Amino acid sequence: AQDKRESLYVLSAWAGKYFKEQLWNTPSGQSIALTYFKERGYQESIITKFDLGYSPDQWTALSEAAVESGFHKDYLKEIGLAIERDDNSLYDRFRGRVIFPIHNLTGRVIGFGGRTLKTEKAVPKYVNSPESDIYHKSDVLYGLHFAKKAIKDNDVCYLVEGYADVLSMHQAGVENVVSSSGTSLTSGQIRLISRFTNNVVILYDGDAAGIKASLRGTDMLLEEGLNVKVLLFPDGNDPDSYIQRYGSTAFKEHIVKHQEDFIFYKTNILLKDTDGDPIKRAEVIREVVESIALIPDEIKVSVFIQQCSHLLDIEERVLLTELNKIRIQKA
Ligand code: ATP
Ligand code: MN
Ligand code: MN
Ligand code: MN
Repeated sequence: AQDKRESLYVLSAWAGKYFKEQLWNTPSGQSIALTYFKERGYQESIITKFDLGYSPDQWTALSEAAVESGFHKDYLKEIGLAIERDDNSLYDRFRGRVIFPIHNLTGRVIGFGGRTLKTEKAVPKYVNSPESDIYHKSDVLYGLHFAKKAIKDNDVCYLVEGYADVLSMHQAGVENVVSSSGTSLTSGQIRLISRFTNNVVILYDGDAAGIKASLRGTDMLLEEGLNVKVLLFPDGNDPDSYIQRYGSTAFKEHIVKHQEDFIFYKTNILLKDTDGDPIKRAEVIREVVESIALIPDEIKVSVFIQQCSHLLDIEERVLLTELNKIRIQKA
């Protein structure tokens, strides 16, 4: 099994090199993909640092090159670089896409994300490697290998939605950033972060999906004992689009100024929809206390109950009663 995993690592590394070669040293890579990256505002140093690549818009280019280089078909399938047709022939998973290699903590390539260059809605924007013996999505955070030192040094980790956000933030000089790549945060990913810091700032997209994911992510992080702050970007922006639109300095000022402790963030988000309705207001109080109830540290719990009491102008005693009710229900 160890031999097999090693073979998959070797094949992944080979594929990473192949995609890079396609990006930098082929006419279509240069004219289509490199141009795309540059139009998005990425400098060559960032494209190189993150080992970005390109998969040509052909059905079997990679599969054929891999077999020619001596790799076994089974491994190509296993790692999801190729997909098998009914007649047992193979075709490439990544076609006509810019490629973001996914690295593990030690920097080995374990999977890929590929973004389409087309604008048609019918084409999925991103295609990702499937689970394999070396790629377990729930235990991987995109960018962690490049971020771990900065996370430790700054004692805080920024959490974003996408590959592009990680790249743009690095380019802006903010290197303590990782992405869960569109999937909802897992406890495995949170435990990875907590090896380097206990402080997380969620920087998700300012759309309905981002709000929902931020509330869910907050609860997961609180439950694992981490401190959580949140900031959503206005007007449908994400960190990448904000940086490209307003610049690095404005971005850095924005995140320092507008990140909020989870309790303010959650309370304000939920209160927006109440229109002063007392029944809806009671529901908000319950939902905020539900998040507080997840926190393992009793001192923090009591601090947040106090804050919540001020914020919602409601007696601490009432909140503590609610807290205990929630705890009994969960026990
Ligand atoms: P871009 O800036 O390139 O348009 P994004 O990163 O802002 O992309 P989002 O739509 O915000 O894209 O999605 C966030 C992340 O979710 C992506 O970076 C990707 O990892 C993942 N994702 C998005 N769409 C898909 C999809 N169709 N299939 C799988 N994963 C996806
Ligand atoms: Mn989004
Ligand atoms: Mn986005
Ligand atoms: Mn984006």
